[in-house]
Amino acid sequence: MTDDYSGVSGMQHEEALLFEHAHEAATPISLPGIDAELPDALNGFRRSRQAGIPGLSEPESVRHFVRLSQWNHSIETGFYPLGSCTMKYNPRVNEQLARLPGLAQLHPDQPEESVQGVLELLYELQQWLGEITGLAHVTLTPAAGAHGELAGIMMIRAYHDARGDRRRRTVLVPDSAHGTNPASAALAGMQTIEIKSAANGRIDLDELRSRLNDEVAALMLTNPNTTGMFESDIAEICRLVHEAGGLVYGDGANLNALVGVARPGDMGIDCLHINVHKTFSTPHGGGGPGTGPVAVNDTLAPFLPVPKLVRENNTIRIVHRDERSIGSIFGSIGQTGVLLRATAYIAAFGRDALHRIAEDAVLNANYILARLKDAYHVPFPGLCKHECLLTDEKQERHGVKTLDIAKRLIDLGFHPMTVYFPLIVHGAMLIEPTESESRETIDRFCDAMLEIARQCEAGDTEALHQAPLMPIRRRLDETLAARKPVLVWPED
Ligand SMILES: *Cc1c(COP(=O)(O)O)cnc(C)c1O
Repeated sequence: MTDDYSGVSGMQHEEALLFEHAHEAATPISLPGIDAELPDALNGFRRSRQAGIPGLSEPESVRHFVRLSQWNHSIETGFYPLGSCTMKYNPRVNEQLARLPGLAQLHPDQPEESVQGVLELLYELQQWLGEITGLAHVTLTPAAGAHGELAGIMMIRAYHDARGDRRRRTVLVPDSAHGTNPASAALAGMQTIEIKSAANGRIDLDELRSRLNDEVAALMLTNPNTTGMFESDIAEICRLVHEAGGLVYGDGANLNALVGVARPGDMGIDCLHINVHKTFSTPHGGGGPGTGPVAVNDTLAPFLPVPKLVRENNTIRIVHRDERSIGSIFGSIGQTGVLLRATAYIAAFGRDALHRIAEDAVLNANYILARLKDAYHVPFPGLCKHECLLTDEKQERHGVKTLDIAKRLIDLGFHPMTVYFPLIVHGAMLIEPTESESRETIDRFCDAMLEIARQCEAGDTEALHQAPLMPIRRRLDETLAARKPVLVWPED
């Protein structure tokens, strides 16, 4: 292979090469030979030649994979202020609970009377999410936030159709929205229209009014929005949409700013997904698994997907058929492991302390904003919610961009913040500390950011353009890596 290991120190370099040059003959497993002719049960897909996978002894393999894990940044190894992602620490007790053999070894198709314990926990979670969101009816089945969006828009569509209002096929989406919002609406067969934000980063009420008509099925709204600001006109926004016959879909990815303090249902939102892998713990590096339960009000309740969990006397039943339901959107009752971690996380705080999640998350974000607001440009002044937004406007004058700042942070020991999102803000840097970081950690991060700003001012920008110098991989072609990933071992 032609990989560049120039950033790897001596010993590690040898080990890295060992893996890639290992010979198949050295494979540590030996399987018994087979004498009989096997029928081709694989319909011609049986491998006809050796796979060419490198053979290594067990300790060599273990070292290889442990080393790879150490080349990655993780919440276990450092601060991870990735805005919009809520990369909070995941208490180990939640892992222990989700891995209890009596929970982890269940089969999704087991008869319901044999899994009453786990169903009780999930049912309880359903009730809690209903209470937290102020939207009493909850489905746990969607497998991610985006999947929850799809389920929600399908329910909204079914609601309009059930009223014979089949013209409503438009979904309004603010220009600050996460990309999954218009994508989910399109997947549900809707047309999307973009709503331009006002100069303060919030919804422009006049623009909203001008877009509302009898073809609008819903407005999709994130609150606080992706600039970290609370949509303070939320009550009026919901009133306007309802008056025009539409419903309000809430993107609940930013629930960390509200949990235990304010409820989307009380604001007038009809339907909301909850990224439990953001707000309620679960390791979500590497893209999953997650879960996106959806909470709805009475209007949308009949359309919830199946299977549904229903309590009858002292038993929880799994109901697979329901006439007005949008149907099944997932192979089982949900990603149980992720849901159980959420149950544990919520239970650990309890009803009386849940608000501390939001309060501490918001306090931490505002502390960062206060420390950095003179060194970095703040596009929307004022208090933020659980994340704060900066831009590279002051650094750009010295030829330093958001990407350089982010890459320099890696050398200083921090995962970068979210960069260039939301798209409406030039050179955006979205910083979300979450409630789980100490003041000391946050101060070290702010010190690093201030040091970068000072380097810019001093014209000492070379290190910023060269960064990162420390990791194995430096500046990658991220588009190529995402669009054309190399996922198989290269054949000779
Ligand atoms: C993360 C996120 C989503 C999508 O959630 P997934 O669970 O990643 O599918 C949608 N909207 C916002 C604002 C998000 O931050």
